[in-house]
Amino acid sequence: MTFFLLRSTRRALLRGLLLSLGCAACLSATSTSAQARPFLVCIDPGHPSETSDGASDNGLSENKLNWQVGQKLRQKLLARGIAVVMTKSRLNQNVTNRRRAEIANQAHADILIRLHCDDGSGRGFGWYYPDRSGHKYGVSGPPREVQAASREAATLINSAMIPVLRGSLSSNPVRTDAATFVGGNQGGVLTGSIFARVPTALIEMCFINKRSDARFIASTQGQDKMATALTVGIEHYLKNRRLWASR
Ligand SMILES: [Zn+2]
Repeated sequence: MTFFLLRSTRRALLRGLLLSLGCAACLSATSTSAQARPFLVCIDPGHPSETSDGASDNGLSENKLNWQVGQKLRQKLLARGIAVVMTKSRLNQNVTNRRRAEIANQAHADILIRLHCDDGSGRGFGWYYPDRSGHKYGVSGPPREVQAASREAATLINSAMIPVLRGSLSSNPVRTDAATFVGGNQGGVLTGSIFARVPTALIEMCFINKRSDARFIASTQGQDKMATALTVGIEHYLKNRRLWASR
């Protein structure tokens, strides 16, 4: 925060100096470079972690699906000039949920996107965000402003994804961490959310125990479509967000 204020103050002083010199061309160049930082998305392909190795059903491994879609999403975001940091560097790397959030925090990511697949009663994709603060390992979080920005992110991304996936996957209402199994068992907040200091949203991309959902997410075309829908959703969020700007 201090750094940001200092940098803003310096920029304002420079702008004033340039204006007093009548240097319009210099001013626009300065403004452009000040806004040149690319968006940065932290992609978190869920599992394995301290909680679980991920679901398996219909011959599918959730861990593998999360990883495959994560890799495709990474490529698509990079192709659109959006920087990416991953929470894992290989399929079976075990990373705690706390660490996943800390990777996003340390990178000052604009958003932490957590990729999962569900196994239970339901169908289609659904987003989850933290709407309250939880406590774990002596830490409380996420802060109120992260909760609000996470809600905004989940809502905007979800709305932009629905038309892309229509006919392939059904959508579900955006819900809070409290509606998840793990979140519901620890005060209504997921561990990754408690430690997040940047906006965070988790998607259950489908239900792998549902035959039609499983067929979709197992296919290359389905994974491509999911990654495209996520890219469209993330871009929509980054362009239209009102509550958050990391740096
Ligand atoms: Zn999962």
